[in-house]
Amino acid sequence: MAKTFDYDLFVIGGGSGGVRAARVAAQAGASVALAEESRYGGTCVIRGCVPKKLMVFASEYPGYVEDAQAFGWKVEAGSFDWPAFHDKMHGELDRLEGVYRKILSSNGVETFDSRARVKDPHTVELADGGTKSAKHILVATGGWPVRPDLPGAEHALTSNDVFHLKELPKSILVVGGGYIACEFAGILNGLGVEVTQFYRGAQILRGFDSEARGLISEEMIQRGVDLHLGTNILEMAETEDGFRVKASNGTERTFGQVMFATGRSPNTGNMGLEDAGVKLGRRGEILVDEYSQTNVPSIYAIGDVTDRVNLTPVAIREGMAFVETVFKGNPTPVDHDLIPTAIFTQPEFGTVGLSEEAAREQEPIDVYCTSFRPMQEAFAGRADRVLMKLVVAKESRRVLGCHIVAPGAGEMIQLAGIAVKMGATKEDFDRTVAVHPTMAEEIVTMAEPIRSA
Ligand code: NDP
Repeated sequence: MAKTFDYDLFVIGGGSGGVRAARVAAQAGASVALAEESRYGGTCVIRGCVPKKLMVFASEYPGYVEDAQAFGWKVEAGSFDWPAFHDKMHGELDRLEGVYRKILSSNGVETFDSRARVKDPHTVELADGGTKSAKHILVATGGWPVRPDLPGAEHALTSNDVFHLKELPKSILVVGGGYIACEFAGILNGLGVEVTQFYRGAQILRGFDSEARGLISEEMIQRGVDLHLGTNILEMAETEDGFRVKASNGTERTFGQVMFATGRSPNTGNMGLEDAGVKLGRRGEILVDEYSQTNVPSIYAIGDVTDRVNLTPVAIREGMAFVETVFKGNPTPVDHDLIPTAIFTQPEFGTVGLSEEAAREQEPIDVYCTSFRPMQEAFAGRADRVLMKLVVAKESRRVLGCHIVAPGAGEMIQLAGIAVKMGATKEDFDRTVAVHPTMAEEIVTMAEPIRSA
């Protein structure tokens, strides 16, 4: 007789990936349970993309007021009321958490507001010691910010904490040069905090297109971020006024706060995974195949805990592909190729495909690139420049990479991403009539390559 289980699927983790997988599996007829130890919505909704983007919006208003003045409006910026914004932002997060809970309950997913760990390939143990059995277990526990191993670092902020500050500091040191460091440097600078940023490498946003990285760092500096490249913290100590920091460039200064944006680690600690036989990688990530299946056939994992491409929409896709594979009899590998993404730096960065540097390693290329002051910013007297760039394969003429640094670049790259994913050639871009007058029209009007390699 076939073994019976409490559920067809037990999902551990109620973030974007876990909730989507639970809902879609339930809609496909599976009996599903989900456990979440913190808040529903996970990193994206509670301590990531959503509150971050709301803070980006808030931080851009001083610039809009200056622009409005340049366009003839008699307006004054006034001051920023952090407590009022903070409370409203958390009200919105509460609302969204409610939406996530409702999605689960209305689809018949049983939820446990509890930590859960894997006991064996078909059993999950809840924090109260109770156990539940399931034919399949899906681990979607995400990741968590890490601080460097430095005395005093435990008192500094991470991105998790910034959303809960009672008041904004007068000054802050942001450490790191990745997505989170660069986004928060811009946000806090816009909100009136004196921002210093230390990045240990030669240029921020390692791995992305060099020309785009260069323009973003120039613009960040021009907007007031005191960016120090090739610099790291050597020592830090908490003082009455904040943190006294000794830097690798020989300087010593006090900052109101220090924020580490030095990467994130998969949440696999004390999850019982190794005891259940699940293989982890060097960084603690769960190793999975293209169907998100671990080496233990009944256990799958999706999202940041697998440390593949750590983005919300990717976790969601991995969740959908898992359900197709396991519950709909349609084995579906996850397509991680040509993922468009936006980094909400100021200026914003939208990118899809290969950087010029990576493409050059792959095959001969032509590079089309233009950088200019857009109409609205130029009229307002801003020095801001935007960049539009296409990296094109010399032989096939396929667009291998598209990189945009501009206001609204995230919106633009979503659409350009479709063309690049479809395999569009430079000539396909050229055949498309420009939308005038826009910034984005430049992406279809670049006639000659600026260089070939
Ligand atoms: P990243 O891995 O992107 O960046 C970490 C940064 O910290 C790097 O600049 C790294 O330097 C630096 N660093 C690491 N260790 C140390 C150390 N000991 N001392 C000093 N510097 C250090 O991580 P993030 O935390 O910024 O973001 C995590 C992921 O979250 C991103 O990769 C992205 O996938 C996702 N994300 C996506 C967003 C979006 O879609 N807009 C927004 C935010 C996050 P080095 O380059 O030298 O290694």
